[in-house]
Amino acid sequence: MSETTRRDFLTAGAGIAVGAAAMAVAPHLAFGDEAQKRVGFAIVGLGRFGAGQLLRSMPECKVAKPVALVSGHRDKANALAAKYGVDPKAIYSYENFDSIKDNPEIDVVYVVLPNSMHAEYTIRAANAGKHVMCEKPMAVNVAECQQMIDACRKNKRLLSIGYRLRYEPYNMKAIEICRSNQYGQLRAIQSVNAFNITPNEWRTDKTLSGGGPLMDLGIYCINAFRYLSGEEPTHVSAQTFQPKDDPRFVNTDGQMTFTLKFPSGVLASGETSYMHHSVGKYEIETERAFIASEPSFAYGGLKLHIRSRDGEQDVQLPNINQFATEMDAFAKCVLTGQQPLTSGEEGLADMKVMMKLYEAAESGKIVAV
Ligand code: NAD
Repeated sequence: MSETTRRDFLTAGAGIAVGAAAMAVAPHLAFGDEAQKRVGFAIVGLGRFGAGQLLRSMPECKVAKPVALVSGHRDKANALAAKYGVDPKAIYSYENFDSIKDNPEIDVVYVVLPNSMHAEYTIRAANAGKHVMCEKPMAVNVAECQQMIDACRKNKRLLSIGYRLRYEPYNMKAIEICRSNQYGQLRAIQSVNAFNITPNEWRTDKTLSGGGPLMDLGIYCINAFRYLSGEEPTHVSAQTFQPKDDPRFVNTDGQMTFTLKFPSGVLASGETSYMHHSVGKYEIETERAFIASEPSFAYGGLKLHIRSRDGEQDVQLPNINQFATEMDAFAKCVLTGQQPLTSGEEGLADMKVMMKLYEAAESGKIVAV
């Protein structure tokens, strides 16, 4: 069977086999044909994460593949296109971004820009008829998150937030332990995520970041409290510190502590900072065990230690490529029409909590979420 005939045959077959789900699939993505089962990604923002982690991981993807780049730096984009096999004709600037609508190879737009640009590029991508992955934090306020969800819904496109740890074995194991009650009920969680930031970063410019370390790093603690407990907090409190004599923190705080109370009685507390040495960890107390994870948010080398009445153990699980895994997970959703685990609603839920934490820090009061 010639390639064309085979493709046509399989496309038609897919329509019969999966019905409505197949209607959500671009015509060039046929089920059952390994050569065709790829979902085209456009990476928007070729910085440390977009180029350094996501593009670099694309060769390990089984379903996602890079088909377009969006950048303000043509030279950088040209070099990356050559390296990753992207057609130079599929390099876009921020100005001509909307013309992605005319490129049927692009199924997914992955927004990897500074936080305050997430909403604009997600909405423009959805209006161009593309599914969207967007980095965390989803945006810089609750209203923007809702607008992003609405734009994707209106255009019947899927939206996923880059919460890579939801697809990562150690974090998935911790979720299973907490939610199965295998060591009794979950009682408390403590988490820290921090690094010592270099000067002149957009991350400490509130216009681009939306806030201090909570938006970039503390969000991992908040997300973990929610995914480990499987609950939404009812009340929060927080304190921030903005040093007066440190030029890095002119319009954002440098660090924050926070507490969250969940309906079952789980109490979670955390700290996030741009002012001290790197650490990303959580500790979990259940009725019959103490579970420690450090590092728990890193790109690799994650660990999980359990101490219970039965003794102590270091959990051994595979260290995967988190970026290839999360992109493939979303690519599969695009193929099947399934809602992603890390939907826009997940990003919105974190944003609601973070905005309440800022409110609590400002007022000095316990705030209802
Ligand atoms: P970065 O500064 O390295 O890259 C940002 C990119 O945006 C650059 O290519 C830059 O040229 C471009 N850009 C366009 N307009 C800009 C503007 N006005 N100011 C600054 N840059 C502009 O940042 P990054 O570390 O790649 O972070 C990008 C996004 O990815 C952020 O939302 C961040 O939270 C997220 N991120 C996620 C993870 C994760 O593990 N999921 C890790 C790192 C970063």
